[in-house]
Amino acid sequence: MSAAVIIPAAGSGSRFGGEIPKQFRALGGKPILQRVVERFLLHESVGHIIVAVAEILLAEVKQTERVRFVAGGATRQQSVKNALAAIEDEELVAVHDAVRPFFSYETFESLLAVASEHGAAFPGLPVTDTIHIVHDAAIIETPERSLLVAAQTPQCFRTALLRDVLSRAATDDNTDEAGLAARLGYPVRLVPGDPMNFKITRPEDLEMAERIVEQWPS
Ligand code: C5P
Repeated sequence: MSAAVIIPAAGSGSRFGGEIPKQFRALGGKPILQRVVERFLLHESVGHIIVAVAEILLAEVKQTERVRFVAGGATRQQSVKNALAAIEDEELVAVHDAVRPFFSYETFESLLAVASEHGAAFPGLPVTDTIHIVHDAAIIETPERSLLVAAQTPQCFRTALLRDVLSRAATDDNTDEAGLAARLGYPVRLVPGDPMNFKITRPEDLEMAERIVEQWPS
């Protein structure tokens, strides 16, 4: 079973602040994106890794046989679409956030197996906080917590399925391919996620990640 990996890394990382987008920040002395790419490269099921980066960076990166860089688009979804166009052979594809360096191989393998059987799979965690929908600083609705799941990545798909989903999407601003596939009628299976696989979004996340890499085999 061979899988391609798509890493959308063309964002500016505005929530993190600072000049350098968060995926290029150093973690344990190495850019976060490099850590993610290397971790996938070491997995036996992974064929090509397609990284979408800002067009201006294309001249700076080194294309290799297994790691290809393509120009991202205006939105994350467009960046994923551009990367998907560069996939040729693999039957399965995983879409992974550039800033989740601590995904586990065990979860990744479960996701690939479920995606191979059912078409689409995502890692998710039960929500521990109560989530309110708020407008103008007032609660509009409180969804039942037991029904909520926080979606992580890698989200895995049969490649043909993801191509269909992205070609049919009505808008260009979806932040999560699993949700998009479900909205278009595909069954998308939940696989238990992992709290360690958090997204480095704010400076305090990077501080926590630094403490983890001290103990983490790289
Ligand atoms: O900004 P946010 O955290 O939602 O971005 C999620 C991922 O999508 C990041 O890895 C970011 O680099 C990527 N992205 C992209 N192309 C864009 C916007 C975001 O590849 N135009």
